[in-house]
Amino acid sequence: MSEPSTPLMRQYAAVKKEHPNALLFFRLGDFYELFFDDAVLAARELQITLTSRNKEKGMAIPMCGVPYHAAEGYIAKLIRRGFKVAVCEQVEDPRLAKKLVKREVTRVVTPGTAADSSLNPEENNFLAAVATVGDHVGFAALDLSTGEFRATEFAGEQAGRRIQEELEQLRPREMLYGSSAPLLERRHERETATLTHPRAQANASASTAPVARISSSGWAETPLDDWIFAPDHAIPLLENHFGVLSLEGFGLAGKQAAASAAGAILYYIRSTQRGTLDHVDRIGFYERQNCLVLDAVTVRNLELIEPLFSGTEHGVTLFRCLDATVTPMGKRLLRMWILRPTLDRAEIEGRLDAVEIQVKDTVRREELRRALDGILDLERLLSRVTLETANPRDVLALAASLAKLPHVRAVLAGLSEQQAAASRLSVLHMAIDELGDLRENIDITLVSEPPLTLSDGGVIAPGIDKDLDELRDLSRNSKQYLAQVETRERERTGIGSLKVKFNSIFGYYIEISKANLQHAPTDYERKQTLVNAERFTTPELKEYESKILDAQEKIVEIERRLFAELRSAIAAEAKRIRQTALALAEVDALGCLAHIAALRHYCRPKFERTFDEAEKTADFADLEIVEGRHPVIELQELAAGSERFVPNDLFLNASTHNIVVLTGPNMGGKSTYLRQAALIVIMAQMGSFVPARAVRLGIVDRVFTRIGASDNVARGRSTFMVEMTETAAILHTATARSLILLDEVGRGTSTYDGLAIAWAAVEYLHARVHAKTLFATHYFELTELAEQLAGVKNYHVSVKETGGSVVFLRRVEPGAADRSYGIEVAKLAGLPNEVVVRAREVLAEHESSERRLSSHLTPGAEPERPTQLTIFTPLSQPVLEKLREVDLNRLTPLEALNLLAELKKEI
Ligand code: ADP
Ligand code: MG
Repeated sequence: MSEPSTPLMRQYAAVKKEHPNALLFFRLGDFYELFFDDAVLAARELQITLTSRNKEKGMAIPMCGVPYHAAEGYIAKLIRRGFKVAVCEQVEDPRLAKKLVKREVTRVVTPGTAADSSLNPEENNFLAAVATVGDHVGFAALDLSTGEFRATEFAGEQAGRRIQEELEQLRPREMLYGSSAPLLERRHERETATLTHPRAQANASASTAPVARISSSGWAETPLDDWIFAPDHAIPLLENHFGVLSLEGFGLAGKQAAASAAGAILYYIRSTQRGTLDHVDRIGFYERQNCLVLDAVTVRNLELIEPLFSGTEHGVTLFRCLDATVTPMGKRLLRMWILRPTLDRAEIEGRLDAVEIQVKDTVRREELRRALDGILDLERLLSRVTLETANPRDVLALAASLAKLPHVRAVLAGLSEQQAAASRLSVLHMAIDELGDLRENIDITLVSEPPLTLSDGGVIAPGIDKDLDELRDLSRNSKQYLAQVETRERERTGIGSLKVKFNSIFGYYIEISKANLQHAPTDYERKQTLVNAERFTTPELKEYESKILDAQEKIVEIERRLFAELRSAIAAEAKRIRQTALALAEVDALGCLAHIAALRHYCRPKFERTFDEAEKTADFADLEIVEGRHPVIELQELAAGSERFVPNDLFLNASTHNIVVLTGPNMGGKSTYLRQAALIVIMAQMGSFVPARAVRLGIVDRVFTRIGASDNVARGRSTFMVEMTETAAILHTATARSLILLDEVGRGTSTYDGLAIAWAAVEYLHARVHAKTLFATHYFELTELAEQLAGVKNYHVSVKETGGSVVFLRRVEPGAADRSYGIEVAKLAGLPNEVVVRAREVLAEHESSERRLSSHLTPGAEPERPTQLTIFTPLSQPVLEKLREVDLNRLTPLEALNLLAELKKEI
């Protein structure tokens, strides 16, 4: 930037210097303007016109702008792309300013600190931080828009991976870390896409983050000075904020790393936002072990929140399938329950009791849902109040939502009467504060339909402030007064067309047309000349003008003050509002689960023992599902009006049925069967009823799913590497309480490699891990395992064969499938008959040669059994032929190598 030439640009330069790495929204009248590189970047990102300033002086400054009333939308857009925005306001009235209007940055918005109304109501917007203290790594996350704040820490070698898991599951919008600390252990070489414009990059020092740096994981990364993460700085900051002498009450005593990460977050919020942050009223320490762990791959594979292939129709995820919540708080909680089912048996039973009572009481359940309907996002409204960004309509919306609370409580009282005093519903009933005092205060203070902003007044109701009422009278009477002056002056001058008018630049004036100019009295002072008229003022008008302007200004000032007082009165009750919002979220989520359970005939799952009991006795409960259904597919089939979903049983235990190997044709229903088992377990541990006739289970600590490469192509890295990395992670971390789904694992490589790996993995799971495992496979050879290992059982999905064609029965039955029906399935898919016939021939030919080979490879394989046709073997046929012809005894080592290279090329 060259030397700024005007006072305004000097002011701009000074402000920009303080915020080198944020896009500076600089308020000029009714616009926010951006200059220099900021303008170039914003014009491109926002698709707005780039203009320039000072052209005539030979030094054009790039510039673009957005109208102030539309700014929030533009800011939100930039934030979502990972940029930071500093908002610089005029902090004095331009009409009063002597020369240059004073300007100050009032807030800095970053991806992790956004709390505006354009946030997705279904999701949290987390700001995360990682702090290292000694050999502990602390992790904290705050959703500023709701006040949810939590922290945890890890130690030892696994810490890096654990933090990575936290991040993947929480998916924060922005992450803070010490600028000299190595940023986690980057397991996948995550590339960092930089959207930074060149100057900001050059400026990026330790203390200032780039404008936008979104890692490929989807969050912006913001390095901060190391001292911000130091325990002796961060922890006192945290204690101060909560007004406590020790963090013990939050479970953070002695958790220096966790507390430091949390303190760094607070520091960052304080340096970017205004307001009291009263809604951030607690922080929870949590242990990863408190919830059923679902890693990112599993969340994706099971389509818990997002469909595997985007663009597929609505209703495809578990979240959409279960979501019948009526408030945004309830929606977010349900989502959280899906992603973090609990391990706490008492908690689960508490939720299940609350669901059950509502399943049985249709009338009250529906009334409760109606009572909740229309309650707005209390958490986010509150955060805007304490961050001082709430406008009058936000506050009024808050009051309108509070007005619905008495009804909610009344219905809850009726429902909880039917249960023990300590039941979940009565606890929630107690936790909801009707907040009548607050609502009344808001209703009395504000007019019923206030304007969006405070700048023109008209927000505060009459009767609240005596001065305000008087000033309003004065300006209300001004019309009358001006009419009076007009009549009088017309009479005095004899000019019938004389007008007394007002505009914001010239104030009050008398306008006389050119034709009547000679009649203007001498006490009129000339003010402005137009083409056809002349404008005048008089001492009387001048005096009146300043009185009115004064009044107007005072009105706005008083209204601002009263509104700020109202906002602080609300902020002072943040704890009560938060507690109520949390309780409402739970009431809503439980009501939703009950509604769904009743609607779809789900059953209550029965838990056998607590997690700790199982741990002590090492006696892990069975998993038994009677007539289980896949909640999402069942729904889709119903919607499509097609065949009804075929329910299936499942039995797994720790001894005889530890591992189920499931075979059967493509499209037979294997993947569906596997996933429905996992979904039922997850739903049960959320406290939901489940799609089955009966379910009996023990608490599961982790659910793993791995889907073979060809079922999961969209991931970029070498599919075989992905599969093997994921499989390795399972073999390392699964326990006897885990549920593992392996769906066609081994597909990503050549037949025998894949088969051998799958074989060895099952043996390992059987001998070492004892996790309950469902293995769907096209490797028919794996069914041999059941004969060798006591805990392995074969099952298959059944088909009915009729004259060269097959009908899928979708029933899971004991025993291995007798054959693969690959060709029949292909025929069903509409392959030309000629191809089907030829395929049969190839298959017959191939099977005879393959059988010879596989009998060498798989221990104890029966040569009689037909094997499944895979896509690899017909291609490898010439290779096999060649191999067969080679005489190994006459080959030199070099020739052997050459042959190997040749064969490889052919594959
Ligand atoms: P596989 O994994 O054996 O190839 P899938 O599990 O992908 O088969 O199932 C194929 C299709 O069959 C699914 O898209 C689903 O619509 C349908 N399906 C699966 N299981 C059932 C069932 N139990 N009842 C009804 N339809 C089912
Ligand atoms: Mg499948």
